[in-house]
Amino acid sequence: MRTRRTFSPLPDGRCLLEGHKLINLSSNDYLNLAHDPRLISAAASALQEMGVGARASALVSGRTEWHARLEAALADFEETEAAILFPSGYAANLGVVSAIASEGDTIFCDRLNHASLVDGCRLSGARLRVYRNGRLERLRRELEKAASDGKRIIVTDSIFSMDGNQAPLIRLCELAEEYEAILVIDEAHGTGVWGASGRGLAEACGVEERVTIRIGTLSKALGAMGGFVTGSSGLIDWLWNRVRTQIYSTALPPAICAAACAALEIIQDEPERRRVLFERAEFLRNELSQRPHVTVPLSAGPIIPVILGDPGLTMRIASELKDVGFLVGAIRPPTVPEGTSRLRVSVTYAHQRDDLERFLKALDRSLARIGKSG
Ligand SMILES: *Cc1c(COP(=O)(O)O)cnc(C)c1O
Repeated sequence: MRTRRTFSPLPDGRCLLEGHKLINLSSNDYLNLAHDPRLISAAASALQEMGVGARASALVSGRTEWHARLEAALADFEETEAAILFPSGYAANLGVVSAIASEGDTIFCDRLNHASLVDGCRLSGARLRVYRNGRLERLRRELEKAASDGKRIIVTDSIFSMDGNQAPLIRLCELAEEYEAILVIDEAHGTGVWGASGRGLAEACGVEERVTIRIGTLSKALGAMGGFVTGSSGLIDWLWNRVRTQIYSTALPPAICAAACAALEIIQDEPERRRVLFERAEFLRNELSQRPHVTVPLSAGPIIPVILGDPGLTMRIASELKDVGFLVGAIRPPTVPEGTSRLRVSVTYAHQRDDLERFLKALDRSLARIGKSG
């Protein structure tokens, strides 16, 4: 049974849980924008102006001036012609993948892809071919074997959510081009964090033009809520007419769109947030990788998996850390493969060097106890 707890987010990367103040190393608010006064005041004035809910789906009467501004701001940010919004990143992935694929097509899916992409694959009715994380020889063999009548569609997270590692986007583009496959990438953990301008891993790898469909979320580094796709007017018009999770769901609240607009401005105006975030993450990853009893894969960026292996031990250490003031995700199967239970540590721009040093000391005390108990 998974426990249901109630958290109160606080500024500065902290939260309250059952009356205790914790340093929150389990949040996806990478740039510390969810509590930013500029987002709050943008949302507050839109709330006063337009009320709370959008009252209808976007195609009926739910698309307000704030939705239109956010679409334009996203297209501008991503240097594309147009954008479309979704109620969540989950809805974007589910809806887009199930709209572009159908029976007779073949979808190639990395085994570590997010559940929303996997569910989209299943809903589409297409054949599904799963390859082990980043194993492109296997992907190539499957592409080779795929029937030549239907479409071939490669679907991948850009940054894998539980491991923080990067998809091999350049080589995926090459394979997609060689086999005339559509390439769909989910930048949920890329947007705002990766790339010189914060457009994601595709920007960092210089392959934005070569990716067929780029999906992002407003719920993580942008500190708001919702999903989006940016691309050519042709693609976006097609999605407006086809994607059921957008057509048959109420539009985002206008105040959320106003907050996301403010977040996009900050991401563009304050690139030092990304630089500082990567520096802090590098410090913490480097320190964690020197600890006994754990495996920390080589990578970069704010998601740092600290693999302990055993689910019971992982839960115990997360609970001990919570007792001394640190909240980290304890991730077990089926979310991750058997034998790879882990603490999922995520650093944000809010966390100071001193917070991270205190976390390392607390973790060391817990790890020392494992040594003693065998
Ligand atoms: C969180 C996440 C999503 C879902 O985004 P929401 O906006 O939270 O619904 C999709 N893909 C990946 C890889 C994610 O980590």
